[in-house]
Amino acid sequence: MAGKLAIGSRDVLFVVDIQNDFCPDGSLAVPRGHEVVPLINALAARFAHVVLTQDWHPRGHLSFASSHTDKQPFQTIDVAYGKQILWPDHCVQGTSGAAFHDGLNITHAELVLRKGHHRGVDSYSAFYENDHKTRTGLAGYLRERGLTRVFLAGLAFDFCVRYSAEDAHREGFETFVFEDACRSIDVDGSAAATRRQFESLGIRCISAGTFMEGKNS
Ligand SMILES: [Zn+2]
Repeated sequence: MAGKLAIGSRDVLFVVDIQNDFCPDGSLAVPRGHEVVPLINALAARFAHVVLTQDWHPRGHLSFASSHTDKQPFQTIDVAYGKQILWPDHCVQGTSGAAFHDGLNITHAELVLRKGHHRGVDSYSAFYENDHKTRTGLAGYLRERGLTRVFLAGLAFDFCVRYSAEDAHREGFETFVFEDACRSIDVDGSAAATRRQFESLGIRCISAGTFMEGKNS
């Protein structure tokens, strides 16, 4: 197994949404979100191929509670494509909140994939928007580049990491999540639900710390 996890030229690391608004003092802070930054920098140094994802919403986005009358953040509403949790305004295009955390240092990243830019559809996943139909183009990008295994780390474990991992699996990529290089929002048990779903799909949660020591099995 250890050999299987030797990182090679067909592997890609997704660094999910390490943005100021998801870190302490941000508008949608993931508890202790900033803590993963040094570990992710060290992880990324082991990968030749890194994709950064960036939540990138226009003002007045459908996912913002402030875009709806009499709604509060973390309430759920019905929209054309199903249920949508409403969030505080966050990661508005061009704002400091949407910028990557200052400590992120992955200059060799080859792609910045921006998502959530359609005003009427949210996008947790880096592959599909929340209607589960609109593609971001990422699967095609990975295939054209000959990348076959996807490793994920970042924010938040139970939303954008979760849905990106599930869609990577669905698209036929072997998928791994560095759970200790993620942090959760944990709305209504969403972190535990994420672990159950990963287990049922065969998405492996692995330890970045152990991986870095070369002990992963
Ligand atoms: Zn968002």
